Amino acid sequence: MTRVAAEAARSRRRGPPAELAAWQSMLHSLAEPAWIVDARSLALVDLNDAARKLLGRGGTGARIGVATDLIDTPEDQAFWADVRSGGAPRLDSETTLVGADGRLLQVVRRIAPLQRPAARPPHPLPARDLPSHHAPSHYLVQLHDRSEQLRQQQERETLLTELQATLESTADGILVTDLAGRIRAFNRRFAVIWGMPESLLERHEDDAVFDWMRRSVGDPHAYQRQLVALQESTLARATETLQLLSGQTLEMVTQPQVCRGRPIGRVWAFRDRTEIVAADRRIETLITTDALTGLPNRRHLGDALELALAHARRDHGGFAVLLLDLDRFKQINDSLGSDAGDRVLLEVTARAKTCLRQGDLLARLGGDQFALVVHRADQRGAEAAAARLLDAIGRGYAFEGNQFTLTCSIGIALYPGDGHDGGELMRHAETAMQRAKQGGRAAFRFHQPNQDADLRARMRLDHAMRQALVARRFRLVYQPQIEIGSGAIVGAEALMRWRDPELGEVPPTQFIAVAEESGFIIALGDWVLGHAVRQAAQWRSKGMPLKVAVNVSALQFQQADFVDRVAAVLREADLPGALLELELTESILVRGAGEALQRLYALSSLGVKLAIDDFGTGYSSLAYLKRFPIGKLKIDRSFIRGVPADDSDAGIVRAVIQMARALNLRVNAEGVESEAQRHFLAQEGCDELQGFLFAPALDPLSFEQRLASQAAPGRHLRVVSR
Ligand code: C2E
Ligand code: MG
Ligand code: MG
Repeated sequence: MTRVAAEAARSRRRGPPAELAAWQSMLHSLAEPAWIVDARSLALVDLNDAARKLLGRGGTGARIGVATDLIDTPEDQAFWADVRSGGAPRLDSETTLVGADGRLLQVVRRIAPLQRPAARPPHPLPARDLPSHHAPSHYLVQLHDRSEQLRQQQERETLLTELQATLESTADGILVTDLAGRIRAFNRRFAVIWGMPESLLERHEDDAVFDWMRRSVGDPHAYQRQLVALQESTLARATETLQLLSGQTLEMVTQPQVCRGRPIGRVWAFRDRTEIVAADRRIETLITTDALTGLPNRRHLGDALELALAHARRDHGGFAVLLLDLDRFKQINDSLGSDAGDRVLLEVTARAKTCLRQGDLLARLGGDQFALVVHRADQRGAEAAAARLLDAIGRGYAFEGNQFTLTCSIGIALYPGDGHDGGELMRHAETAMQRAKQGGRAAFRFHQPNQDADLRARMRLDHAMRQALVARRFRLVYQPQIEIGSGAIVGAEALMRWRDPELGEVPPTQFIAVAEESGFIIALGDWVLGHAVRQAAQWRSKGMPLKVAVNVSALQFQQADFVDRVAAVLREADLPGALLELELTESILVRGAGEALQRLYALSSLGVKLAIDDFGTGYSSLAYLKRFPIGKLKIDRSFIRGVPADDSDAGIVRAVIQMARALNLRVNAEGVESEAQRHFLAQEGCDELQGFLFAPALDPLSFEQRLASQAAPGRHLRVVSR
């Protein structure tokens, strides 16, 4: 026996060391399962409560059993064999054991010799290197139950794999970064969406990943700015749309990753919206485009007007809305078929497009109506655009051997003068367009607040007018027509007056426009004709044979039975045709010249005199004046107003008088208010005048008195009939 072994044997024989009690009290103070093993016999000396509970052991001393009863792995057997043979080993490893409840427990088991404090060397030495006379008498076995820890770890792992699976199964590309911007996690979809080699992510080449993203977006600078802003405010959430150079549209949603209330990074989700955006655009296009011409439709026009309004308000600028309606397009559809009609609409579209400036908008409102928004345009700009359109569309068309012309009528409303919103501008452009149609088509008209009075107000007026006719509220007044040379009253123009109990005195300029629009002018004109003719007959019967002039509207003149009506009225009143003069507008002559010509000759054959009213304001030309049996031109008041001071007005009036002379027509100057005007007209050889200088329109009785006083002896004026 070596000296070391002998010492060990001696020390064992010595019985339990005095320290055992201290060791045992230390054992029972341990919270984790532990027990003390006698090194010599390997008997379990004591187990603490945690160990008893865990392993289901009771009793004390030898009755409890030996060390290998509790854990009997080969490792433990080898260890205890080493102890028995006098070694001083230590053990610290994981193992499994079956608990009192039959559960398999995962534990770390640590076995170390218990040292006598007195025998402890000044410097601790590993037990194996202890001198033999220090061979330990007892060992402490401590268990650390890792079952719960392992269960949690396993749960975490499961959670992680589930999370990864979730990440992979989502349609979004996900990227997780930490506060420093380093990539912490990603899914495969992220690489796919960005068209990025996955290896960049797998190899953690963060800079290359971010560089790839920057180079893929359409506007890298804006993208970079967004990223910096997000990086700076760690708690910001954002949703952005990224346009990639590849044509893809990505939606980027980012939110902070927060742990225990503090941001620890950021989660970025990218969703490929390319298909949805394309579908949206397709639907938007279908909704806002006219199927035939591909032009924006009415709905789109509404949006475009909103935009134009916003810009104009911001810039304190203006724009024009032109409403274009093709003239007699129905005839083309009816005669050539709707296919040809469609082709004509396409041709019109192409021609109208040539009239656009950059930024202007052409829309088709449906049927044969188009609208044009001319940006930054004032009256002059709008006029230029309208003139271009009239010219482009008015040029000849040739389809399948058919040659024809097509014209259009255009109404114009200007912002800000003619309306505050798109609806109002469109309404005003529409009424102006209607006026262009009524004025003879193939022309443009601007919105005129007075004439284009609100539709509802016009409807109210129309209604009141119809009631007024039944209630006999209309009356006629007569304005003397004076022969300049003699100063004699040579005629009387019948002018309508209407005092309404509710509306008061309504001027004819206002109600006649409405009556013309609604067609009521036919009934009204008929009333005037009958009334004026009877008045003339009455004056004649009183010995005052005076020619009465009656205004005739274009619509009234176009009635198929107009000539018959005139003849009947004359016959009924027994008035010679020569005492009736009809004042026609120039538009009657321009429109449907052939039929008009026939009708004029028929009237002329009744002896009725014909005059052109408001001459100079329409389209009359010498050429066709010659063809009509017209006896008189009435120069419009607007030209007389300027004479003699205004050179241009004076020039026009002079030219009209000379032209009338050459054509053997009499000339009447309307609205003469001053002696200077009368003098000028007399000098230029004008035949007669009308105006406040001599008299306004008078009621029949006042007219008669005027006639009587002027015909009195000693006065130069006399009644003559021509
Ligand atoms: P118009 O046929 O050119 O009639 C002349 C207008 O000038 C009349 O206005 C008359 O009162 C006005 N006038 C005459 N002398 C002067 C003057 O010295 N100074 C000024 N400032 N004005 C003068 P009124 O009666 O208001 O009639 C306006 C228009 O209404 C007429 O213009 C005519 O176009 C239309 N109208 C009136 N009565 C009838 C009618 O019975 N049938 C139709 N179809 N139209 C009518
Ligand atoms: Mg007149
Ligand atoms: Mg007139």
